[in-house]
Amino acid sequence: MLILVINCGSSSAKYELFDVTKHSSLAKGLIERIGQPGYCENHYEAISLIVDALTDKKTGAIGSKDEIDGIGHRVVHGGEEFKTSTLITGKVIKSIEKYAELAPLHNPPSLLGIKACFDILKGIPQVAVFDTSFHQTMPEKAFLYGLPYKYYEKYGIRKYGFHGTSHRWAAKAAARELKRPIESLKIITCHLGNGCSMAAVDRGESIDTTMGFTPLEGLLMGTRSGDLDPAVVFYLMERENLSPQDISDILNKKSGLLGISGVSNDMRDILKASKSRKVKTSTRAKLALEIFIYRIEKYIGAYQAAMKGLDAVVFTAGIGEHNPWLINRIKKDLKRVVGIRAKFLVIPANEELLIARDTYEIIKKG
Ligand code: ADP
Repeated sequence: MLILVINCGSSSAKYELFDVTKHSSLAKGLIERIGQPGYCENHYEAISLIVDALTDKKTGAIGSKDEIDGIGHRVVHGGEEFKTSTLITGKVIKSIEKYAELAPLHNPPSLLGIKACFDILKGIPQVAVFDTSFHQTMPEKAFLYGLPYKYYEKYGIRKYGFHGTSHRWAAKAAARELKRPIESLKIITCHLGNGCSMAAVDRGESIDTTMGFTPLEGLLMGTRSGDLDPAVVFYLMERENLSPQDISDILNKKSGLLGISGVSNDMRDILKASKSRKVKTSTRAKLALEIFIYRIEKYIGAYQAAMKGLDAVVFTAGIGEHNPWLINRIKKDLKRVVGIRAKFLVIPANEELLIARDTYEIIKKG
């Protein structure tokens, strides 16, 4: 059973072809710089290039596109409507279009990818796997902000949370590694990549997560500020004469590890800079690291309290998987808080495989 997983970003399209019954990946790749002069023109052309690469007579993984049994798309925002992965119909497309209002950078490219597949890979069932679905189990007390209730009713302003597929994968894999049913475990998952978020997974269900209405809330990230007093926004806008777009750019693209260190958004560069002979460079890089770690530790404490217990803390994604020093440091700092029972684990991220499996389960039924 062959499942093609597609992840369309604003200027990129990632793909991976799985044989889900044999648990193997047959081919994967990435198309970048979509829309830039001299490169792939648009997402339609990107999907067409992907199909050409997969079916290339010499190097392709398959002989014909008809061999593909299903397509799984990563979609960032499914609002409150999609609590699980879903077979894509005309109605589902309309809903994803509606939620583009909440994820203007993410949902539109996913839609372009889905529509291109409907045309180029006609007749093959497609499934949407949402970043927000896993967090739909959060109770109201965790997802509502302290704003007038009418804004929740009118605009859907609430905490949605993101990276759901990654948190779900990490929690499941941790339970497997601990050889215990997930229904008996209280797990904190830490997805630390360019974007960073944590989730409190109580007996398999997300009960809280650090990202919010958008992926800006919570931990310090590569270029995003994370938690912030909202008053800072209008203070800065007034003082620096900034437009809403300007302040959004500062909070999303110029803050976080990059903003504090002044060096880079990349953890490898920050680590290098922290050992620099230039005092200002090393001081600021170390400060960025300390803020990064402090917030993770603070949320571990908070989520342990929210779940009234803790069995495991799980690290995943680029920073989580490649920095044992970071995990050892957090383990040491929190030794007295989390007790000796709580395990610290590293789980390699594999959102694509989970998307492929969800797609398989859904098309098998239909
Ligand atoms: P994305 O969220 O874009 O998928 P990744 O999960 O690839 O990002 O994570 C990117 C982050 O992981 C970067 O900060 C990068 O420095 C860090 N990272 C990746 N590999 C290593 C490594 N070998 N050592 C330290 N940090 C790493």
